[in-house]
Amino acid sequence: MTTAFITGITGQDGAYLAQLLLSKGYEVIGMHPQRSTPNLWRLQELNILDQIKLVEGDVVDISSVIKLLEVYKPDEIYNLAAQSFVGASWNQPILTSQITGLGALNLLEAARLVRPDCRFYQASSSEMFGKIQHQQQTEGTPFYPRSPYGVAKLFSHWMTVNYRESHGLFACSGILFNHESPLRGIQFVTRKITDAVARISCGLMDQVQLGNLEAKRDWGFAGDFVEAMWLMLQQDQPDDYVIATGQTTSVQDFCKMAFDYVNLDWKQHVQVDPKLYRPAEVDILLGDASKAQQQLGWKARTRIEQLAGMMVESDLRRVKEELKLKKGCHDS
Ligand code: NDP
Ligand code: GDP
Repeated sequence: MTTAFITGITGQDGAYLAQLLLSKGYEVIGMHPQRSTPNLWRLQELNILDQIKLVEGDVVDISSVIKLLEVYKPDEIYNLAAQSFVGASWNQPILTSQITGLGALNLLEAARLVRPDCRFYQASSSEMFGKIQHQQQTEGTPFYPRSPYGVAKLFSHWMTVNYRESHGLFACSGILFNHESPLRGIQFVTRKITDAVARISCGLMDQVQLGNLEAKRDWGFAGDFVEAMWLMLQQDQPDDYVIATGQTTSVQDFCKMAFDYVNLDWKQHVQVDPKLYRPAEVDILLGDASKAQQQLGWKARTRIEQLAGMMVESDLRRVKEELKLKKGCHDS
């Protein structure tokens, strides 16, 4: 049985990747940081919590990682752990660098010391392209990060390349463009919008405040993107790949799609709050995943309209369940 070790198991991608690997017969060891209450809702929603061996550990604490690698001896390591919210990275630049930047180095160093023959995946990000240098970004496009998060990801990306080139580690960096799902964190703009659509449609609120509506992202479905992570580690040689849909959409157009889904006019319910603008913006991202298509046989399957619909549906279900529970409490 192949053993996979996933950091960030409790996050969006951790949950989908674990589901994929379980379906392929892997033993999945999921590392999560110590919290007063563990964040298990995603694993519960996918109904896979009891199939994963959950272990406590923190990427900032290399000794915890080394001990876990010694005990579980994984064949594949997926480093998904991060402070992943760009907006928060200006308020917490040092913490972000420690987790998102140095955390990855801790993992690489632990892998080199304890499991030098393992295969290693690093969750790199299109935020590294930031102020874009090419209209459509490929593996060859120069980087220009615009946030502490982007800078931290650039550090971990180059460390991954460096461990491959200097220590011969089978280390791959997946440069993933934004990917969303019903399991996306609520602070990210797509989920903030679909949650608001559900609440507005159920009469629980009327307005949602957003920042820059002009920003454009290449948004895909997380369920499609985790397949590319796995494929990278099944190749003969380690390499870096851009993973993207090749279509870019503005925040405003995403709003329209999500509100249209429940027959509401987004203009009646969206307010722009300049406080939500970022100190330095990534105006537009658009990826070219031709290399992944040619070498991995990977292609995004889910279109943005489907994604928006899927997210609104699941938020509607959650809000209705919340209302039912509240009603039950009042009645009893
Ligand atoms: P999430 O924010 O949903 O998940 C991040 C995970 O990291 C959570 O499980 C979190 O635990 C864990 N974590 C946070 N701090 C630590 C720590 N110190 N030690 C160990 N674990 C920690 O992110 P996603 O699932 O969306 O993304 C997965 C990875 O891919 C991240 O590295 C992200 O930066 C990167 N990425 C994501 C993109 C996207 O569009 N989703 C695009 C490109 C890259 P807890 O739940 O307890 O906080
Ligand atoms: P990011 O690409 O990783 O930063 O993902 P986000 O979902 O956080 O943001 C995507 C884009 O939406 C950025 O350009 C933000 O400036 C823009 N945006 C506009 N309004 C909001 C908002 O209210 N919240 C967030 N998170 N982003 C917003």
